Amino acid sequence: MFIGHFAMGLVASRVEKRLALGTALLASQLPDAIWPYLLLTGAETVSIVPGDTAMTPLRFDSYPWSHSLLMTALAGFVLAGLYRAIGGGGRAAAMIAGLAVSHWFLDFITHRPDMPVLPWSDLKLGLGMWHSVPLTVLVEGLMYAGAVLFYAYGRRMSVGFWILIAVLGATYVANVVGPPPPGVTPVALSMVILVPIVWWWGNKVGAKEAVSA
Ligand SMILES: [Zn+2]
Repeated sequence: MFIGHFAMGLVASRVEKRLALGTALLASQLPDAIWPYLLLTGAETVSIVPGDTAMTPLRFDSYPWSHSLLMTALAGFVLAGLYRAIGGGGRAAAMIAGLAVSHWFLDFITHRPDMPVLPWSDLKLGLGMWHSVPLTVLVEGLMYAGAVLFYAYGRRMSVGFWILIAVLGATYVANVVGPPPPGVTPVALSMVILVPIVWWWGNKVGAKEAVSA
């Protein structure tokens, strides 16, 4: 899943105003934030196989450290702990951990059975919604649109906010209709670049009553 993760971040940041938007978006995609570094070091592997699922040419051969349920929860707790350590609130920290775990469950719905439960076991799960492009786009599109409306409802959002929303949406569309990526390294590097930009930008253009910590 891609923009479905951002939908969770938008909702969490609206529910808990002290959780800044960019931080919420980072937490919601935490496994995908860690993943490119493990790809670049060879600790995890992915192949580009057009048609592997209808939705993506990426075949996730091995990603036990970034994407197992146990490690996802652990990463969420570490990020929540760091957030507490720099003075963030307890409720917002709990949401950060919850957002990270939500990533696993959303990927579990979309991926074919390649989502590890534990980093060292062969048990892998996935419901495979990615076999259907229309279903995936419908579900994720509705999640994203609903979350954006929920976040912006009754607030005057800046142009920068709407640009962020449009850029994320356009990136999603480009992934769906565009050609397969030219290689694994470009995939990893694009994530290395995208994740901090979304974090910084989200904190900058999130609702002004939010506290950025
Ligand atoms: Zn993921």
